[in-house]
Amino acid sequence: MNRLYFFISVFFICPILAQEPNPIQAGVAPSENDYQGDLNVLHYDVEIGLGNSADWIEGIVYLKCEVMKDDPNMRLDFTGLSIQSLSVNGLLTKHIYEKGLIEQNLKGFNFGDTVTIKIHYSGTPDDGLILGENVHGNRTAFVDNWPNRTRFWLPSIDYPADKATINYSIHAPVEWKVIANGYLKGNASKTPADAIGPKGDRMTWSWEVTVPISPYNMVIGAGDLEIRSVGLSACGEAPASQRKDECIEVTYWVYPEDVDKAKPSFKRAAEMVDYFTKTVGPFPFEKLANVQSSTRFGGMENASAIFYSENAISQGRNIEGTVSHEIAHQWFGDAVTEADWHHLWLSEGFATYFGSLFFEYADGNQSFQKRMESSRKRVIKSEITNKPIIDVNEKDLFKLLNSNNYPKGGWVLHMLRGYLGNELFFKGIRKYYKKYKYKAVLTEEFQKMMEDVSVKQLDWFFDQWIYKPGFPKLSYEETWYSKSGTKGILEVTILQTQKEEWPIFKIPSKVCWLDDCRAVEINQRKNSFKFNFDQKPIQLGVVDPDGWVLKELTLKK
Ligand SMILES: [Zn+2]
Repeated sequence: MNRLYFFISVFFICPILAQEPNPIQAGVAPSENDYQGDLNVLHYDVEIGLGNSADWIEGIVYLKCEVMKDDPNMRLDFTGLSIQSLSVNGLLTKHIYEKGLIEQNLKGFNFGDTVTIKIHYSGTPDDGLILGENVHGNRTAFVDNWPNRTRFWLPSIDYPADKATINYSIHAPVEWKVIANGYLKGNASKTPADAIGPKGDRMTWSWEVTVPISPYNMVIGAGDLEIRSVGLSACGEAPASQRKDECIEVTYWVYPEDVDKAKPSFKRAAEMVDYFTKTVGPFPFEKLANVQSSTRFGGMENASAIFYSENAISQGRNIEGTVSHEIAHQWFGDAVTEADWHHLWLSEGFATYFGSLFFEYADGNQSFQKRMESSRKRVIKSEITNKPIIDVNEKDLFKLLNSNNYPKGGWVLHMLRGYLGNELFFKGIRKYYKKYKYKAVLTEEFQKMMEDVSVKQLDWFFDQWIYKPGFPKLSYEETWYSKSGTKGILEVTILQTQKEEWPIFKIPSKVCWLDDCRAVEINQRKNSFKFNFDQKPIQLGVVDPDGWVLKELTLKK
């Protein structure tokens, strides 16, 4: 502590004129050594000044960190903006700021200490915080972080496993509204004239997040927005709610021009929250706002403040499927988060599957089966199936947004449900959520939970579906043998015809001739089964008649 270097800035630096470093590339997977965990961020306290016509921002952030080892290296992600000052526990501190990192050895601090790092910064964000005109030509400011673009607007440990609570104090033009994660602390109030950021008639909005969230989930959005309430949800089952009735309010925030167009997409949002609460566990956050925004994605599941593509809504498209997917993410991805990007299926596969389950509950099995079939087709025609779902060799994180992590990941859950049955599957899901909410996990933890709950060994299942590529391509053939009268033996031959590089799958299933079903386990390249029948079945048997297995099937006649 006493051996810190001090750095005193002699000249006053105008935020607008300060030199901004070139930004690093977004979306590159970190290497194994990048996050050593010397510091663990517990809390961010961030103040940001925005202006209506300015293309720059000014920010002050306090990072309260737990020291995890003696003489820790401070190593924060930050890029493209200029730093006015940095202090540690109130003392201006020398540091190196280059290649997307702020670094300094904090000699004298010991394991268990708490340090508060204050950084004053400004400039034009190159990414992460999008300042510009919306689809109607009005200026807005929206954060869009996934996967690791938080560092473009907020000094942070920009890694999903380092969760923290956060407070926002946002100064924005008086005609704007400001949304963020968490709950709104009181009404917006007039911004003091000397507050940071572009000057003008501004209001200050304070939002507080009371439970830890990942940096990629930390967002603000500001612009001319209209707010509509969908209703209350998860009453008595929303421990983070700040309301007396212990409900959460479900709202949507959209551009004034698009209020009517948005309504059909969000009308069942509160019902969705109730369904997932009942199926998975208590709603994890303080409220749920659905926000029209300039995200590059169709939807981005930011904890308690989901951002949707402004174009989809302004074009009047019904995006209910996306809404259900993003709301499911509040439990999977946001509350229980993948500790490493390569385990993204724990977020996207789960949101894809649970997003579809809402429609099974609300609209019936046919609607659900239609979604599963369209997922199946996406998997089957995708080249990415030549790689396993967990593909640690992929260094471009944007390429993880693929048919392995979304539809195939969803199908893995569907197959597990088919194999374990509804009761054990949902019991396992609920226990997994309860144990790991507000934490970060890997696939191993999910597997272990499902094994513990089902008292079944699932190595073979996870190995073939998660860690190996492909899916089974089955060819089905029947031959009838009858020596006397009508009785006979039906020989069923099922071949696995997928390419050599893909595994031979183990598929516990059944074949049905109308309601006469026989159990089979397909586990070889060539599988033969002989069944006695009193008379020759009048039609071909159906493999996996209830559609529990991801496969491509060819019938040989
Ligand atoms: Zn998603």
